[in-house]
Amino acid sequence: MRTVIAALMLTLALGAQAESLIFENVRLVDVEKASVSEPTRVGVRDGFVVDADSIDPAEADEIVETAGYLIPGLAEMHAHVPPMRAGEQRVNDTLMLWLAHGMTTIRGMLGEPGHLTLRQQLADGEIPGPRLITSGPSFNGSSVSSPEGARRMTLAQHEAGYDLLKLHPGLWPEVFDVIAQTADRLGIDYSGHVSVAVGVDRVLESDQGTIDHLDGYAQKMVPEDHELHGTDPGLFGVNLIEGMNAERIPELARRTAEAGVANVPTQSLVENWATGDVEALMQRDAMRWIPADMAARWRERVKQLRQSYDSEEGAQRYVELRRRLIRELHEAGALILAGADSPQILSIPGDAIHHELAIYVEAGLSPAEALATATTNVADYLGETNRGCLEPGCVADVVLLENNPLEDIGNTRSIQGVMRAGEWFDRERLDAALEAIAERAGET
Ligand SMILES: [Zn+2]
Repeated sequence: MRTVIAALMLTLALGAQAESLIFENVRLVDVEKASVSEPTRVGVRDGFVVDADSIDPAEADEIVETAGYLIPGLAEMHAHVPPMRAGEQRVNDTLMLWLAHGMTTIRGMLGEPGHLTLRQQLADGEIPGPRLITSGPSFNGSSVSSPEGARRMTLAQHEAGYDLLKLHPGLWPEVFDVIAQTADRLGIDYSGHVSVAVGVDRVLESDQGTIDHLDGYAQKMVPEDHELHGTDPGLFGVNLIEGMNAERIPELARRTAEAGVANVPTQSLVENWATGDVEALMQRDAMRWIPADMAARWRERVKQLRQSYDSEEGAQRYVELRRRLIRELHEAGALILAGADSPQILSIPGDAIHHELAIYVEAGLSPAEALATATTNVADYLGETNRGCLEPGCVADVVLLENNPLEDIGNTRSIQGVMRAGEWFDRERLDAALEAIAERAGET
């Protein structure tokens, strides 16, 4: 399909925010109804979607003529914003990688004080990038070892203004309980890993927001009379493959749905590690945006990770069991939120979410259901009624695709432009930014 994007009035300097814009001849993808509208017009003014007829075309700052498909902006719900000590350039480049791939919201899962400033700069449009939701520094076995310490750290992070608490491995049940109680009282989310000593049962009894990486489920899938029951699960249960029993999945899925706990599977990350062709992954086109030093580290680390899997069959079985868990969680009505843990090992910021969505479809979700994990499910999870939508009144966080994502989820990659809070990044502008990132990546 040949598409022409005509900017009729290029009176704005690059980077300036158009106050009003009209998408002409665009089809709207309704994620919840799994349908596509007839070609229509969509207006945007001051960062929000408005009725296109309320904008006089002669007065519009920009008119985008397209035959494409508009979807709500995507989210990466398990992102790692680089620490500020990595340097401003690397932080900004990573943010642009997410944005250029259609991510208008990221949930940073390892925050630090500098990320609070960054969150504000992104909100103010001072730095191009997605909206940032950020956790504080990690709660883990080393950072918090006593209930009193847990209480103090929870209070301090709430006071500092973080959006959520990041739970990492190594927490003791009495510590987890205090974090949960204190956070519930303050009304702050706590999400992330399931510590071995805490376990999925305790998490499902709590108000934990998300379980990330499907952590903790492998332990519950090993029957009590199996020799691996209660043994060291390793990273995400990789030591338990031989003991994992798929018959346990439906009940776990049902209980998760009942508990109202969401999951951020980061399945693409795990598949890259377990069964991916490392050389092919390293040769991907998108690797050109990854700094050479980081790429070299990835290659080394994934070799170590591979040693966690006893056999190829075991790794394959592990991947399949996890996919089945994702499908059954979804079918049971538990919320799945797209997350890929980028830029963890082999997970390229932005690119990785498209991989993640494709995996959800391979696992049994429809393209619309997969798309929901990065759009409407996220709005539901966050309790936001004006995101994940395209109607007048919605925040103008949208992605314009050349091809219909409901026909093929891979079409989420056919990005013609991204709009973040009304600021329009057309293909040319995105490509210029990506080219500069690739150049810098090659220089490291
Ligand atoms: Zn992480």
